[in-house]
Amino acid sequence: MNEKFLISFQTSAYDYLSFAQEITFAIEHNVPAFEIFFDGWMPNDITETERDLLKQAAANGMKFSVHSPLRDYLTEQDIKDIMPVITFCREWKACLMTVHFDRLAPDIIPLLSSALGDVKLSIENTIPDENVVTSEHYPEYMRKNIAKYNIYATADIGHAVVNGYNPIEFVGNLLNDNIPIDCFHIHNNDGQHDLHNDITNGVIDYNKVLTFVFEHNIFAHFVTEHWGGNVKSAEYFSQILKKWENAKKG
Ligand SMILES: [Zn+2]
Repeated sequence: MNEKFLISFQTSAYDYLSFAQEITFAIEHNVPAFEIFFDGWMPNDITETERDLLKQAAANGMKFSVHSPLRDYLTEQDIKDIMPVITFCREWKACLMTVHFDRLAPDIIPLLSSALGDVKLSIENTIPDENVVTSEHYPEYMRKNIAKYNIYATADIGHAVVNGYNPIEFVGNLLNDNIPIDCFHIHNNDGQHDLHNDITNGVIDYNKVLTFVFEHNIFAHFVTEHWGGNVKSAEYFSQILKKWENAKKG
């Protein structure tokens, strides 16, 4: 297994599976990482059985990341409201917590970041590509805030393409601006709609995108941000990675 480029499954609000079934599925498929998306639920919904499964996964070396709830991050009260998620991240030693940039006020970043302690605050590009407070697009928002705060990028390739960016240029520009990327959300679409298809199904050529990312040595979680087809995406990911590793050797 490649220690740098970690393929990850993510929990889904749309797969009609319990959290226990999702973790079990990830364990059975041997993925090195797993992302817990608090999409309409909170850590206190996790049962004892599910905690035991998480423990088992952690003992087997699985790495965790967290996707924070989709909501406003504008005031100190908003941070208090999601404190159970932050506590969960710290307790389970999540590598990172992803927050959408569109509703994240720059003023709140230092509060969120210090509450997270050692857990990386990773900020994701969204649709629409505009911050509600500053009206900035994602690249500009990140450029300004990287100068002030200790932040990382979650680069959502599917969102970037729907927003009209060339995905390789999008990633390349973040790197040029010295913005560390610690997470990719990988899914495919028709270039217009945020379909979250498996990575083989759509206009995005993941062979090119991922080869570019591997070539730039970006240590990251690669979260297949869809449940249907996540195994297919993981297989395609491994195939591209193997091909790249063999080309390096040769
Ligand atoms: Zn995403």
